This record gives sequence, C-alpha cells and structure tokens, in this order.
Amino acid sequence: MASTTSDKATPERRTELLQNLAETKICFTEASKSLSHAPTLVAVSKTKPAWMTRACYEEGQRDFGENSDIDLVNKAKKVNLDSLRWHFIGVMKKTEGDDLRRQTRMRELTAVSNLHAIQSLTSIEDADIYNSAIPADRKTPLNMLLQVNTSGEVQKSGLQYVDTETEAADSPLFKLACHIIEHCPKLHFQGLMTIGSQMESLASSERPNQDFETLKKTRDVLEGMLRSNTALNGRWGDNGKLLLSMGMTADFEAGLRAGSHIVRVGTGIFGARRMK
Ligand SMILES: *Cc1c(COP(=O)(O)O)cnc(C)c1O
Repeated sequence: MASTTSDKATPERRTELLQNLAETKICFTEASKSLSHAPTLVAVSKTKPAWMTRACYEEGQRDFGENSDIDLVNKAKKVNLDSLRWHFIGVMKKTEGDDLRRQTRMRELTAVSNLHAIQSLTSIEDADIYNSAIPADRKTPLNMLLQVNTSGEVQKSGLQYVDTETEAADSPLFKLACHIIEHCPKLHFQGLMTIGSQMESLASSERPNQDFETLKKTRDVLEGMLRSNTALNGRWGDNGKLLLSMGMTADFEAGLRAGSHIVRVGTGIFGARRMK
C-alpha cells in the first residue's frame, strides 16, 4: 500500500496509484467469487486531487465516492466525465441558523448529473429536501441508501439498527424507508450502508464481523416488511433485494464474503490521507 505523502501528479505517483488500483481489483474479484451478484467497487477519492480520479477512470474504474458534498461538486465539474458515477458517502452537518445554506448545498449536490447515489441518508427532513431539489431533467430517480449505525458508537452517524419486525415497525429506519417509497418520487430507496467499528474490521477473520451481521439482519427484517406490502412491489431495492454497502480498505474482502453489494475503498487505492 502507498506510503507516499505527496499527491503531486508525478509519473511515480501515477504508477503507484494504478498498481494499488490493480491490486485492489484482484482482491475484489477473488473475494467476490462465491457471490451470485456482481458487486460494485467504489473508489473513495476524498481529499485526493482530480488527476487521480481521471487516472483511475482511464483504467476502467467507474464508481467514485466523496464524503464532502463541496468536494464532490467541484470534482465533478473538473473531471466532467458522463459515464462516471458519483456516490455521496458523507454527512452534511446541521448547524444552527444555517438551514438555507445547507439546502443550497443539497441542491448543488443533486444538480450533479452523474450523481448515482447518496449512501448516507438518515432523516425524513433531508429526504424531502433532496426530493424537491432534484432538477426536473434528471432521467432516473436518485438512489438512496440509509446509513445504519451498527456498532452503537455515539460518534458514528446513522440510524439505529433493528432486530425484529416489532422493533422495526416503530423505528426511524423503517419510517424513513416507507417515506421515501411513498412520498419521494424522485428518490429510490435502494439499500443500507454501514461504516462499522474499527475493532470489528481488525478482529480475527475466523469469526463473522458483527457489524456486517447486524446490517444483514436489519436488511432481512426490512425486506420482509416491505415485501409483505405488495403495493410497494418494484418500488424499492434492485430486483426485490435491498443492497448492502459494507466494507472499506481494512475489511472489504470480509464485506464481500459476507454478501456485500457495494464496497468503498479509499486508502487502499489512493494512499493515506492527510489529516485536515
Ligand atoms: C473514507 C470513507 C471510506 C473509505 O475508507 P478507507 O478506510 O480509506 O478505505 C469508506 N466509507 C466512508 C463512509 C468513508 O467516509
């Protein structure tokens, strides 16, 4: 993995980047072997310069993730490639008295024509803002994954996971899912995302990762409830299945073996990030 601290566009740095990408893809393919679906590798380019996104794109990489809406909007302008798919994986913090500015940012984000998914939605309020912000000329509904806090860590964003249908019936997670399906025609409820705890990603690979198991359980419960409401058929997920976005540099192979549909790899491809 990269140890370089500079992200200047030198031939050496470019070679290192493409090597990292190639190695990540080999591991990704190997870990996906036993899956019956074709998972997606999202290259998390956050804090990295646009030339790196272009270089990976030229190697065939299509999905890229950013956790800052401002960086995503700026990079999308700079890179300007139609068949690239952007994933927003960050949180837009709410600060008092800044609602209008925040709504403007959400509008700018949804105006990115190749924004493919927002993986980090956690509130009905934001779903409504996104739904009304989406430009009229957008061709397909915007994919939404709901972020779930599977580790219970207070510093992690995300909605509480659910274990049973009784528990789920009253949960913010289920309510948000139903709200999108029933009231947000420009959004598509596609699946669930988790970050998980670092402890779990570093734990022995001989036992299942608890965050991934928790997300799968939550998915099973939600899928069961949505499926029993036949009026909602075809209005959520992909082919009647909710997608799981779980696995990052430290644990994407474990995520894939656990059945993930989307993994998000930053450091493993782009190298270490400098602290802000
Ligand atoms: C930064 C980030 C990643 C990538 O993390 P790495 O450990 O660098 O692979 C994945 N998902 C989210 C939500 C992130 O913010």
